[in-house]
Amino acid sequence: MLRKIQLGSLVLGTALLAGCAGANMQGLTQAGGSLFTAATLSDTQVQTLSEQSCAEMDKKNKIAAADSTYGRRLNTIMSGLQNTGLNIDAKVYETKEVNAWAMANGCVRIYSGLMDMMTDDEVRGVVGHEIGHVALGHSKAAMQVAYATNAARGLLASTGSAALTALSASQLGELGETLINAQFSQRQETAADNYAFDLLTKNNANRQAMVTAFRKMAQLDGGQTSMLSSHPGSLDRAQNIEARLKNAK
Ligand SMILES: [Zn+2]
Repeated sequence: MLRKIQLGSLVLGTALLAGCAGANMQGLTQAGGSLFTAATLSDTQVQTLSEQSCAEMDKKNKIAAADSTYGRRLNTIMSGLQNTGLNIDAKVYETKEVNAWAMANGCVRIYSGLMDMMTDDEVRGVVGHEIGHVALGHSKAAMQVAYATNAARGLLASTGSAALTALSASQLGELGETLINAQFSQRQETAADNYAFDLLTKNNANRQAMVTAFRKMAQLDGGQTSMLSSHPGSLDRAQNIEARLKNAK
C-alpha cells in the first residue's frame, strides 16, 4: 500500500474498495508453491507474528495522540463497536492515505486520510468490516498466506517454528506490508460487511452510514466496480447493505 501512494488517490480508493488494501496477486502467485508452509503456523504463532508485525507498522507510522481530534474521533467510533468478544486495539495513523486494516491479534489501524473523507458513523462501518475479518478468521488466514508469500520470496525462513522467533525488524515490516496488501475473496468481503452490519445493530449504531461510506468509495473509484473482477465493487456492497436495511424494517 505504501508503494502505491505515489499513484494518487484513485488507486488508493480503488484499493480500499477492492478489499481492505491493495492487490498483491503477484506475491500470492509466487507463494503458490509453498502454501503448505502456511498451514504449519499455529494459532499462537499467528498471534505472535501479528503482534510483532503490527508493532513494526506502528514504528513506521505516526500514531495520532489520544487527545488529538483524530484520537477523540476514534473513541467515538469505537464506542459503537463494542461486544465483539475480541481484544481490539484500535489506533489512527496520521497519513493522507485512505486505508484501514486489521490483524489477527485484534490490531486495527485506521488512516486519517480515510477519516478525513468520512463521518464518524461511516468510519465505524468500515472499521466494523475490518473487525469482521478478524472475527471470521480471515485475518488469521491472511497471515498464513503472507508468511508463505514472504517465505517463498526468501524473505524469511520457510521451515521450522524456531525461525519465527528470529524474525528481524525488517522481516516483520515486510510481513506487515504483505499482510495489509493481502486480498480477500468476494465471499470474505461480503461476510465482513454483514458482520459489520450485525455489530452496528448490536450497538444501536448507524447502519445506513455503511451505504454512504461505500458510495463515497465508489466516487473515489470513478464509478468502476473494482480493479479486480473477483471482488465486489463498492456499489454492490452498498446495495447489499441497503437490502439488509430493508429486510430489517
Ligand atoms: Zn475487507
